[in-house]
Amino acid sequence: MAVKHLLFDRATKTLTPAKARKRRIALTQRMRHVIQTVFVAFILTTSVLHWLSSSGTTASIDALCPFGGLETLWHWLSTGQFVPKTHLSNLVIGLGLLLGTLLAGGAFCGWICPFGALQDGLNWLRGKLHIRAIQVPARLDRVLRYGRYVLLTLILFQTIASVQLWFGNYDPYKTIFGLDWLFNFNLATSWIAYLLALVVLVVSLFVERAWCRYACPLGGAISLLGNVSLLRIRRTEAACKSCAVCVKPCPVKLDVATAKTISSNCIGCLACVDACPRPGALEVTLAPVWLDGLRSRLQRTHKTVEEVSHAR
Ligand code: SF4
Ligand code: SF4
Repeated sequence: MAVKHLLFDRATKTLTPAKARKRRIALTQRMRHVIQTVFVAFILTTSVLHWLSSSGTTASIDALCPFGGLETLWHWLSTGQFVPKTHLSNLVIGLGLLLGTLLAGGAFCGWICPFGALQDGLNWLRGKLHIRAIQVPARLDRVLRYGRYVLLTLILFQTIASVQLWFGNYDPYKTIFGLDWLFNFNLATSWIAYLLALVVLVVSLFVERAWCRYACPLGGAISLLGNVSLLRIRRTEAACKSCAVCVKPCPVKLDVATAKTISSNCIGCLACVDACPRPGALEVTLAPVWLDGLRSRLQRTHKTVEEVSHAR
């Protein structure tokens, strides 16, 4: 069942197909950037208020991080306590993200995460500065993508073992958006965190969404869970003319033009769906991958029943 385009069909009805496609891309991406900006502003405002509150009672961005929910989950389930610096809010936000991912896969990364938005901003800046992006060779890209799962496993293991937010002091998301560098700059104690954040920013300027693709532990968890999401982008081979127009705009460089079902590394930005010139070739479908196995099993059973009844 195709669920994309319903929103914009009315706005693009009277245009030529090419212009309608361009308009759709612009509308979707503009909407995405507005939503990303709102979340960036919200997180930065939270940080500023936290630093300015004299009593220190205003929430820090630690309390709003869904990854904190995942980090504290085991400790909370086994002892009823939270890992220091995490709260009930982390679990609630984590649960929201869990439900959102089960519905729409990695859309959080494409539409909500402030760090993803920052990297999109760096990509925009690179374009404005006319700097060429670095394309990571396919084989190296495949290997580097495991980095997220390695980091995810390491962080969860160490957090459970130490009952501390083990990665918290180095997390580039926290370093940048927590605004310690602005309100409490301390090179002596935080130089590793600053250096790491700087490296991530510089690499992300040249390699689109580098942190998301190769290192983000939350992105790794979302990608694993995204394998069973209800909404998936699918390519219909019969309608596709293999022009690969859909490949170029993908911020996380997925092989959209050859896959049948787009990888769960997809961040749901919808740029490929809008760019595709062939109606019905690339669509967001309410058809989870696990349903495929179920459907083919049912078809096989149906066929066997038919064969048996014919044989009689
Ligand atoms: S992969 Fe990580 S940093 Fe990137 S958008 Fe997703 S959660 Fe944010
Ligand atoms: S596959 Fe399509 S929707 Fe997913 S990230 Fe790439 S361009 Fe965006």
